[in-house]
Amino acid sequence: MVKDSDKWDLIIAGGRVIDPVNGLDTIADVAIFDGRIAAVGRDLPRSHHVAIQDANGLIVTPGLIDIHTHIYHKATAYGVDPDPVARRSGTVTMVDAGSAGAGNFAGLRDFIFDRSPLRLLAYVNISYPGIFAFDRDYVVGEAAVRELLSVDHCVATVEAHRDIAVGVKVRLGANTSGEIGMLALDRAIEAAGRVGLPVMTHIGKPPPTYAEILARLRPGDLLTHCFRPAPNAPVDEAGSVLPALREARERGVLFDIGHGMGAFGFRSAVQAIEEGFQPDIISSDVHALCVDGPAFDLLHTVSKLVNCGVGIADAVAMVTGTPARALNRPETGNLSPGAAADISLLETVDQPIVYADVTGETRTGSIRFLTRGTLIGGIFHEPLDRPFELE
Ligand SMILES: [Zn+2]
Repeated sequence: MVKDSDKWDLIIAGGRVIDPVNGLDTIADVAIFDGRIAAVGRDLPRSHHVAIQDANGLIVTPGLIDIHTHIYHKATAYGVDPDPVARRSGTVTMVDAGSAGAGNFAGLRDFIFDRSPLRLLAYVNISYPGIFAFDRDYVVGEAAVRELLSVDHCVATVEAHRDIAVGVKVRLGANTSGEIGMLALDRAIEAAGRVGLPVMTHIGKPPPTYAEILARLRPGDLLTHCFRPAPNAPVDEAGSVLPALREARERGVLFDIGHGMGAFGFRSAVQAIEEGFQPDIISSDVHALCVDGPAFDLLHTVSKLVNCGVGIADAVAMVTGTPARALNRPETGNLSPGAAADISLLETVDQPIVYADVTGETRTGSIRFLTRGTLIGGIFHEPLDRPFELE
């Protein structure tokens, strides 16, 4: 920690600083030195040479984390180039959710991660080829073929890429794991157990059912697509949250949005949130088939959840401190002195906007979030031209 304010490089001045890990939601300055947070406080001293970035009227948060993306661009048909998506959505950290398995994970590192200024991490798919056949009307389930579900290869891949591998991904559902969903889940949990990391499970149409999946998950494991529409919705026909969700949350299972092309329904979201069952984490599941809607990107998904009843400070926690904890990266997702200066600058616009879910249902919201740029390790990254909504 730098105590000498004469050494600061930059002060982001006068924004509404929301840092849930440190219990902050207040107007404050953020001082940066040598790529790290040096201090957060009201009216910090300004030496003559420190640069000032005016954040008046903006929200200043730890760099946003999108824990579910597909960014194996060009190596998978549905992958997106992470950089433009991050720049239009104020995102600093993106986590690829199982696009690659043991057979092609090294390419994700060499061809994507090593060429990007973003902070990039990945879940390793339990299936050897990763998600190899996913298009709009063409899906061959990578978890439906028993011979592809190699625990040993998955474990070896995680061990070889410990710095970027954050867990094991498995996609469960009629279209992705067919009749052997529980076997695929058991193998993913076995691999994750051997490397001491969590599992992220996708939930699709049954089999297996929501309750069957949750019954296997361990504390710290994630269920993504938590507010998918029926079948396998989080609420029953009367609109009540399934008891299995509350039991799993009690045990420490984490619930992630993972919007995507087919996995976010307003009915599920609004009913669960009205019953007090908020998601733990908001993520986009951005890929080529939803980057132009209905998911678009992380910030659009955050806007949607806020318009479904999640408070702004809670929503910030769901894309900063909580995913950082789920990733075992406690040094990110907060603005503690000494942390990397990863920061997102956000603007809120209060005007009607029509949001659509994956079923085509629409809701008119009253607020949207736009990015005004990010800092990654103290380096400012301009926002990409205005996002789609203002076109
Ligand atoms: Zn996904």
